[in-house]
Amino acid sequence: MSAARKRVAVVGVGTMGSQAAWRLAARGAEVVAYDRFAPGHDRSAAGGETRIFRSAHFEDSRYVPLLQHADTLWEQLEQETGRELRRLSGCLLMGSTEHQQMATVLQSIAEHGLDHEVLDAEAMAKRFPQYRLEDGDAAVLDRRAGFIHPELTVQTAARRAERLGARIHRYTPVREIVPVANGVEIRTDAGSEHFDTAVVTVGPWVKDLLPELPWEVDIRRLISAWYVPTTDAWFGEERPAFIRTTPTHCYGLPSPDGVSVKLGLSRALHKPAGDPNALDRTVQPEELEIFTELIRRHMPDLHPDPTRLAVYMEGYTESSRPLVGPLPGADNVVLLAGFSGHGFKLSPAFGDIAADLALEGRTPQPIDFISTHSRTAA
Ligand SMILES: Cc1cc2nc3c(=O)[nH]c(=O)nc-3n(C[C@H](O)[C@H](O)[C@H](O)COP(=O)(O)OP(=O)(O)OC[C@H]3O[C@@H](n4cnc5c(N)ncnc54)[C@H](O)[C@@H]3O)c2cc1C
Repeated sequence: MSAARKRVAVVGVGTMGSQAAWRLAARGAEVVAYDRFAPGHDRSAAGGETRIFRSAHFEDSRYVPLLQHADTLWEQLEQETGRELRRLSGCLLMGSTEHQQMATVLQSIAEHGLDHEVLDAEAMAKRFPQYRLEDGDAAVLDRRAGFIHPELTVQTAARRAERLGARIHRYTPVREIVPVANGVEIRTDAGSEHFDTAVVTVGPWVKDLLPELPWEVDIRRLISAWYVPTTDAWFGEERPAFIRTTPTHCYGLPSPDGVSVKLGLSRALHKPAGDPNALDRTVQPEELEIFTELIRRHMPDLHPDPTRLAVYMEGYTESSRPLVGPLPGADNVVLLAGFSGHGFKLSPAFGDIAADLALEGRTPQPIDFISTHSRTAA
């Protein structure tokens, strides 16, 4: 059967599903997508107005080629839709050079010739006085970096997919995915539909929908907290996002509205989310203590009373590497899961890879290190 005539289901139209639907529809597949809510909602992994895009990777430099592929597709989606989804205002990476993550950043910059600046304490004090560096810290400005609008991106990719012929069933949770001899059946409360292939991108619901999944995906509850600066330093001409790798891994973004700065923490500091259908969205005062301490130590011009708090969910694998590829024993079901807090920037690339796998059964992208084929069961 030719790629153009393949029927592909996309289960979950969030970060990855909206991009997969776009890439599949762009290649002429017949796409039917399902979401338990509607594209652009804030009840899962993709809310809170901003996500960091960067080209230097501190987790693993093998992501860099995928980031470059994503970069091209970000531009393509913006051009096709006329929407500004990303703003390349830079990202400052700060932390001890003794720590492995800063070493990986410097390694990926050197290996891939990335556009960057290393800033010493004097340059930091002049250009970015809002940050307090510690002895032994390095500061690197990744210039091909900035922020993405997550809700706008999901809606824009989903709408682009619809323009190209995809159908999206909103408020339609998929209850079961059943591999059958000549494809796969998607079961919802409305009935059952047959497809050649299914792409499954249900984020924090992955264990709910696929209880037999042979890998552990730990669903965590992430707090975003917005603080208002007491000086003008955050909203000058340069407005980079930042990531601090040590001593407490955290990140932040000046809000696009020019009023507040959003802060977030890393994996070790997130509580388990529990049932994704019953996420506790209330932030207790004691959960803010760590933010207050970070502000006191590293960003003293932020007023420590948050003006806004929000809670999201994300799935983490043990290695923090996502699971991308066919489900064991079900070649017609392509899984994308466990993005471990760093999937958004890469999402157009993952959508494209999902389309490769669903339509061709293989991808030219270097995904061995994240492929389900290369993973042993937990
Ligand atoms: C607070 C926070 C900050 C982050 N910051 C960054 C960052 O700065 N940079 C970065 O690159 N990444 C970041 N990430 C990570 C990134 O946002 C995630 O990796 C990414 O959004 C995960 O995408 P997903 O498609 O797996 O999940 P989602 O975007 O949550 O999509 C899953 C979709 O599946 C739907 N669904 C679930 N079950 C079903 C079902 N049974 N049937 C139909 N539909 C279903 C849901 O409604 C949802 O729309 C952050 C994550 C969080 C939570």
